[in-house]
Amino acid sequence: MRQLQELVRENIWKLSPYSSARNEFSGRTAKVFLDANENPYNNPYNRYPDPLQIKLKEKLSQIKGVPVNNIFLGNGSDEAIDLPYRIFCEPGRDNVVAIEPTYGMYRVCADINNVEYRPVLLDEHFQVTAQRLLDACDAHTKLMWICSPNNPTGNLIDRWEIEKVLKSFEGIVIVDEAYSDFSSQRPFRADLAAYPNLIVLNTMSKAWGCAAIRLGMAFASSDIIALFNKVKYPYNVNLLSQQKALEILDDPYTVDKWVKMLLGERARMITAFLELSCCVGIYPTDANFFLVKMDNAQRIYDYLVDKGIIVRNRTRVQLCADCLRITIGTKTENNELLGALRMYVS
Ligand SMILES: *Cc1c(COP(=O)(O)O)cnc(C)c1O
Repeated sequence: MRQLQELVRENIWKLSPYSSARNEFSGRTAKVFLDANENPYNNPYNRYPDPLQIKLKEKLSQIKGVPVNNIFLGNGSDEAIDLPYRIFCEPGRDNVVAIEPTYGMYRVCADINNVEYRPVLLDEHFQVTAQRLLDACDAHTKLMWICSPNNPTGNLIDRWEIEKVLKSFEGIVIVDEAYSDFSSQRPFRADLAAYPNLIVLNTMSKAWGCAAIRLGMAFASSDIIALFNKVKYPYNVNLLSQQKALEILDDPYTVDKWVKMLLGERARMITAFLELSCCVGIYPTDANFFLVKMDNAQRIYDYLVDKGIIVRNRTRVQLCADCLRITIGTKTENNELLGALRMYVS
């Protein structure tokens, strides 16, 4: 990896961040707070929330096995996806490399930030070699996006190839593990100490059942986390989200139960799909969804919409012609989908 200072935009490296009242006095022992122009009434919503979400990070640190100093929390993974562009990529000059097809937000954030996006097409098994990713880079490549398990394909990207990229790429490698709670493979956040150029993304939106509270995580070296903290909005995670997250994190047993249930349903759904005459094939998955090739994805999608059942039509995505992405729901929801497809006449 190049020196961090060489990778960071000059204006960001030099930036003096906004210093809030809560930053300047963060002790808990005072009894009168007249420093932030808050209204003294309407407790607890009158007070600005903890800008660094320390209580929540301490809890997450135990669960994820990552030290507090290596954790950033954001307004969904969306924020953790946008920030690396703003920190590392000079608009109109730098570029990023990503696997293709993958999660759409990497490209949208590149476009918003006027950063060139270089997609590298996966092979027919939805895999990629480190060499192909590295071949797409030049001296201005700052970031590499690898989503594993990948969305919309569902499969894990070969761990060995990701490790090779981490060892040879001179810039930052971002491994989005939004779905790692559904996979039994060792998560990359466990290897943070070995790779100073690694950023791992996690989210509360999937296995933890909290998409509405908008809470995403980035795990990285404390130097990279310090840059995230410098550039983020001061109070980027509101009090209600912090409270709700603490609540669900206190109940990992329930989350475990959900994951087991969803994995069981996933296996049942795959077996059932393979017996449908309109199903051409199912791709391997390590997530709470699967990608399935149908005999006519558009027609089946429209048929399901007509019945009030919405799946994701991915037929216009590269390598995904005639594919639908099916999220695993409750047993009842899954049975509704199966029932409708069994009645479908090609
Ligand atoms: C769903 C998903 C996320 C989660 O995004 P949030 O903004 O945290 O809800 C992140 N990455 C991928 C690849 C996803 O599919």
